[in-house]
Amino acid sequence: MAGDAKTDKKDTQGDVEFKKRDASWPLVLWYIHVYILGTYGIYVTFTSALWSTILFTTVLTLLGILGVTVGVHRLWAHRTFTAVAPLRLFLMLCQTMSGQGTIYSRVQAHRLHHAYFQKDEDPYYSKHNFWYAQLHGNMLKYSRQQEQLLKEVDMSDIENDKIVMFQKRYYVLLYILINVLLPVNTPFQYFGEALNNSLFVSFWLRSLIVLNIGNLVNSAHFIWSIHKGFKPTDSNSIFFITKSFWPQFHYLLPNDYLSGEFGDYANGTGSTVIRVLAALDLAKDLHTVSSVAVRNGLTEAVEKNRPIIECINEQVKLEESLRPFNHFLNRDKFM
Ligand SMILES: [Zn+2]
Repeated sequence: MAGDAKTDKKDTQGDVEFKKRDASWPLVLWYIHVYILGTYGIYVTFTSALWSTILFTTVLTLLGILGVTVGVHRLWAHRTFTAVAPLRLFLMLCQTMSGQGTIYSRVQAHRLHHAYFQKDEDPYYSKHNFWYAQLHGNMLKYSRQQEQLLKEVDMSDIENDKIVMFQKRYYVLLYILINVLLPVNTPFQYFGEALNNSLFVSFWLRSLIVLNIGNLVNSAHFIWSIHKGFKPTDSNSIFFITKSFWPQFHYLLPNDYLSGEFGDYANGTGSTVIRVLAALDLAKDLHTVSSVAVRNGLTEAVEKNRPIIECINEQVKLEESLRPFNHFLNRDKFM
């Protein structure tokens, strides 16, 4: 933080204004509603909601999370695989059900997050702490500087995706239909659920869960990464939370489809879903990196005194040209 103070002193008043982020009051109000009404939804779940409503909400919650992790993060933000149009349509509908803004805006912000990871420009405050990234940063408007940087993010691949652009254009309508009316109406209309229960469980509680898990994509590294200075043997937390270097790996090589959002690698639900989709020919061109390629890249970087990432990427390209197309069926090969 001492470094921050030094930088701030150098900033002129114009710079401060340029980098300043104000509260977005509609978002603050939204978060307050989601937390209060979603918490009441927990009470309703345990006191009066029907099992069918709870089951239905669970399925929609999982689909919303799938839209964020496999859809926005691994497919659209990082291009870790390609997907046929029906799968993209399905993931777009799932992502709409997460209620977290358009795929376009989430991809743009996530790419900025990677480009400025642990710098002031990162919209999710990866330089600060977990709560900033999970909550605070999501309730602020972008600074003028960030607005400018967002415009510079390369979105050409996304702009060529008709399904994503369709969602961007009709987002409000899709949001109302898929994220509000369908979830609230179904238990009320077809399961005989009370309208109040349907609203609090199937909308507000689901929104609370998906919002928090979706935000974890940007903040999870604070929990699951081993940071400089962290001593696992001195802390009991290692018994409850598995810490690993995989989140760091994701920020170094983001286009590996096996990089889990929440600290796992290769064996999480998202990775399994992508493997199954690939086996069904719905997902193709799965990108991954083997330990051998990373090791060879590191050796090359040390021996030739070249940038690490450049050397690893060369090894990855070489490896991809030799890899069997159905490598995802071999569970042990690239772990
Ligand atoms: Zn990422």
